[in-house]
Amino acid sequence: MRFPFALSAKIAGHIIKHKVRKTPRFAMVLQLEPLHTCNLTCTGCGRIREYSTSLKDMVPLEKCLAVAAECEAPMVSICGGEPLIYPKIEELVAGLREQGRIIYICTNGVFMRKKMRDYLATVYSPEMEPKLQELVKQQLVTEKEADQIRNADAAAKSKVVIRPSQWMYWNVHVDGLEFTHDLIVEREGVFKECVAAIKMAKILGYQTATNTTVYKETDVQELEDMFKFLSSLDVDGHTISPGYDYDAAKKDMVKRLGKDPKEFFLTRDMTRQKFAKIEDWGKLFTIFGTPVYQEFLAGKRELTCTAWAIPTYNIKGWKAPCYLMTDGHYDGYQEMLSKVKWENYGVVNGKARDSRCEHCMVHCGYDPSGALGTNYQRGDNWKNFKYNFGAKPKPFPATAELTQRAFNGVSIGKGHLAEAKAAINSPRAAMNGAQSVFQRREEAHAGDGNGNGSCGSGDTSQRDQLLAKIAAAKKD
Ligand code: SF4
Ligand code: SF4
Repeated sequence: MRFPFALSAKIAGHIIKHKVRKTPRFAMVLQLEPLHTCNLTCTGCGRIREYSTSLKDMVPLEKCLAVAAECEAPMVSICGGEPLIYPKIEELVAGLREQGRIIYICTNGVFMRKKMRDYLATVYSPEMEPKLQELVKQQLVTEKEADQIRNADAAAKSKVVIRPSQWMYWNVHVDGLEFTHDLIVEREGVFKECVAAIKMAKILGYQTATNTTVYKETDVQELEDMFKFLSSLDVDGHTISPGYDYDAAKKDMVKRLGKDPKEFFLTRDMTRQKFAKIEDWGKLFTIFGTPVYQEFLAGKRELTCTAWAIPTYNIKGWKAPCYLMTDGHYDGYQEMLSKVKWENYGVVNGKARDSRCEHCMVHCGYDPSGALGTNYQRGDNWKNFKYNFGAKPKPFPATAELTQRAFNGVSIGKGHLAEAKAAINSPRAAMNGAQSVFQRREEAHAGDGNGNGSCGSGDTSQRDQLLAKIAAAKKD
């Protein structure tokens, strides 16, 4: 089966229950942001710019659990910021499991191995020695760390930890192969760490997923190579969504930089070009989401936005209307459902009800539309059923060549980030305004509060510029 039966059945049951009750709007996935603090400063990240990143500003554990219970979404995506920085992340995962939720921990991967060592310390026994030796052999755990696991004290042994479960996925942010990914996250070694964390997770029996945002300059061939590589690691599923920017950012671009927004933003037409092969990818790789949403991305049909089905809760409350746009925050999910004028958002039959929605095709607005039967066409239910309950694509064979293609950053020399920055600061690049990619990041961290978008899909103009430079640097 493409996805575990229990999970698919739970989601299908949730939809059927609400259809029978004729509930007009209900939640499918809660995007829970317990904090916005992050250990990385990815280019274009909206979250670390829009919200406070102070550790003082966190959603208390009890509130996190209460909002999950309130909206009743079968799936909870714990994002941020970096959720593994949240001091009560283990308790949060345990509490959500007690509520019977399917959990995705959306992480940049940097702290995953630490969390898995914590888990190992609680379950270690001599019978686990072969597994520990395997982790050491693959350099996923050092000898010193292995000893710490073996000799864990009572406090370490009794910690609440994140355990492997078919109900929980590590959902690792990967925006390309090594060169591209490390440039976007603005730190070398992060791609390597993500791969190590995924390998360790697989050895320990965790479920793993990846999430990728596609930008104007994203190289489609690289995306395919990335999926092949991740599939060779036996990653259990992938979320892929177009990056998106909206009106405010476009106006800012015209006003501040004198640039034509079309040069930078992923329009609907461009998205459809980038995702032209999404249905083929869906056959080869375990892409999350419905085939109906894939048809929408490939330009074969229209869907109506159902942003209320993937609500976001963060330190300010229920964020409306969607994960990307902020027109207000509400105290309760039902309050948000009743007060927001949903009919004013989205694109219907190609016409934007709100100009900011014009080019949006993001998964948090349209993926649930495919599952909920919005714009239903004959055969959709069978298509969705076949996709979710059908055979899982086989892992792509791991080859030395594929690994070499994945780790394409190391070939550049001493430090490819430094090299890329130097390239971006070259006179030619400066003429193109590329150095502002890094300058604006500094400005944003000074607290301008003007950021927008989401983790991994913020100011796409910055990322598009950066990706254009990457493409140029690769050619040189
Ligand atoms: S995109 Fe995610 S990982 Fe990167 S800085 Fe933003 S919150 Fe952190
Ligand atoms: S179309 Fe996109 S930007 Fe507009 S409300 Fe829906 S998800 Fe948000």
